[in-house]
Amino acid sequence: MAFEGLAERLQGTFDKIKSRGVVTEADVKEMMREVRLALLEADVNFKVVKKFVNDVKERATGQEVMKSLTPGQQVIKVVNEELTNLMGKEQSKIAVSSKSPTVVMMVGLQGAGKTTTTAKLAQFLRKKNNRKPLMAAADVYRPAAIKQLETLGTELSMPVFSMGDQVSPVEIATRSVEQAKEDHQDYVLIDTAGRLHLDETLMDELVNIKEAVNPDEILLVVDAMTGQDAVNVAESFNEQLGITGVVLTKLDGDTRGGAAISVKAVTDKPIKFAGTGEKIDALEVFHPERMASRILG
Ligand code: GDP
Repeated sequence: MAFEGLAERLQGTFDKIKSRGVVTEADVKEMMREVRLALLEADVNFKVVKKFVNDVKERATGQEVMKSLTPGQQVIKVVNEELTNLMGKEQSKIAVSSKSPTVVMMVGLQGAGKTTTTAKLAQFLRKKNNRKPLMAAADVYRPAAIKQLETLGTELSMPVFSMGDQVSPVEIATRSVEQAKEDHQDYVLIDTAGRLHLDETLMDELVNIKEAVNPDEILLVVDAMTGQDAVNVAESFNEQLGITGVVLTKLDGDTRGGAAISVKAVTDKPIKFAGTGEKIDALEVFHPERMASRILG
């Protein structure tokens, strides 16, 4: 599972300081040095680490003293709170439009898990939120993507809107929203195309789809295994398209997880869901606080 290495290191660092009655400034400095190294080793973006360490130092040496805690515990408390802040403070829900259907655009690089996550999210909305989602197959470039979504739709007994791969994605997206209105489906999840790398053509097309369907939510699907690339990808998509949230996939894998933590910090957009396996029900609502507690023990 992701974050195991980071959790182990931070907990080790904290154990050293926890029991002490007197904590000197040098102790705090040494501890923050170790926290910094642990974060960098876990692949957290260096800019994010720098800001994190400064924020903690500022607060820990400030006046926030709680009588019931030892000085060591106080520093740990600040680290805990800042780590939670870093991952997004509060849990952030998926958008729901006052005017049905709610339109959700799924974007991301090829292989990130977009198509799988589209189906996972459709299933989630139906099961947990009692919604009626329509999935739309607008990834016309990856030959198997349309079929993949149709197969998932059949497995889940969930409708999939497709027009083959000879129609423009903008048209597919537009028509899918009309179809959802007609059929009284209250969500449309549009699976868009990805490329192996960021490129302008891809981004232009996504911008065109966005303009055509005016989505309530643009979810960027990011592969947590891709390290610092994930951070760059998120920055680009956010700048050029304006995402509204992030889904981190493959958190079940052997990832150090740090890049994932950084995505929220660099985009300032919430992580809404986490993918934790290949199965359709392996999608979890992302809880920043719980994730921080898991890391800090
Ligand atoms: P797309 O190109 O972005 O549409 O990617 P796909 O949805 O086809 O997914 C690419 C691969 O990643 C597939 O083999 C999926 O089963 C796998 N995958 C997606 N999400 C997860 C996840 O959360 N965990 C794991 N282990 N695999 C995932």
